[in-house]
Amino acid sequence: MIVVMKPKFTKDQMEAAIRVMEAGGVKVMVSQGSETTILGAEGNAAGIDREKLAQLPGVERVMRVSEPYKLANRKYHPDDTVINLPNGAAVGGKRLAVFAGPCSVESRDQIVSVAKRVRDAGACALRGGAFKPRTSPYAFQGMGTDGIRLLCEARAETGLPVVSEILSTEDLDLFEEHVDVIQIGARNMQNFDLLKHMGQVSKPILLKRGLSSTIEEWLMSAEYIMAAGNHRVILCERGIRTFETFTRNTLDLSAVLAVKRQSHLPVVVDPSHACGQAWMVERMALAAAAAGADGLIIEVHNDPEHALCDGQQSLTPDQFDQLMAKLRPVAACVGREV
Ligand code: PEP
Ligand code: MN
Repeated sequence: MIVVMKPKFTKDQMEAAIRVMEAGGVKVMVSQGSETTILGAEGNAAGIDREKLAQLPGVERVMRVSEPYKLANRKYHPDDTVINLPNGAAVGGKRLAVFAGPCSVESRDQIVSVAKRVRDAGACALRGGAFKPRTSPYAFQGMGTDGIRLLCEARAETGLPVVSEILSTEDLDLFEEHVDVIQIGARNMQNFDLLKHMGQVSKPILLKRGLSSTIEEWLMSAEYIMAAGNHRVILCERGIRTFETFTRNTLDLSAVLAVKRQSHLPVVVDPSHACGQAWMVERMALAAAAAGADGLIIEVHNDPEHALCDGQQSLTPDQFDQLMAKLRPVAACVGREV
């Protein structure tokens, strides 16, 4: 349940409304938006005296909220959430946030050279996996802690914040200390223990949509992180499993619109993992920007043919330059910048 306050309410009126809500046994979340102030009930709102609340002088409306997510719900928090990165970039603002880099960190030369190229092309953060969730136990599993160390070196050389996937709570301290945005991969979207731990870290979380997850399940996973204390969640649409096998996954661009309607959290799109083929990435990236995504995650490798992971879907730095050039006019069409 939420309470929408009148445009001009007094502090006393708001406190009176909060008292009635708290008497009903809920915690109250105050969201002071640019146009409206909303009081959101956290917990079971059944015990709240709605009649009494609706009649209070500063109260405009009392509304039931049918969705099970509250903190992630736009009804509770009408304004877009903007998540700041350490280099002054932001996710969710007017400027599109483009994260780029290889699927996996492979060597110092590789990560530093790709980092320089994507920074020069306009990326605002460097992606690179160090702990890889591979389908086969025989496939390259990532460089682990050494990979994180190399990401730090690439950050020191370029100034780009780094984004990397965590697989286990055993690595929490390592990520908290060295990684700027912690990625929860599609395969772990419903690893609820890991999600709860993400509520305890001080870094933004990039939450990928699960392989076969509904939008509501995805938002409920964001809710886990937020309910545990971390409200800085970036959602990432990366394609879902369908009957189609031509593409690696099916990019659900309508999910961008759905999520932005239902939630205030920023949404980015990963066309690389969605399509699985480099030649499709540019067009789908442009389509994502046109659909209103707040940013993109693009796999870029200096030598895709010899990449240890996901080479077939990786752009070369030159192809990434071209993508960024084409992105500018598309972004401008939808009122965004690159
Ligand atoms: C990745 O970003 O490298 C990755 C493994 O992505 P996903 O979890 O979306 O498959
Ligand atoms: Mn990958």
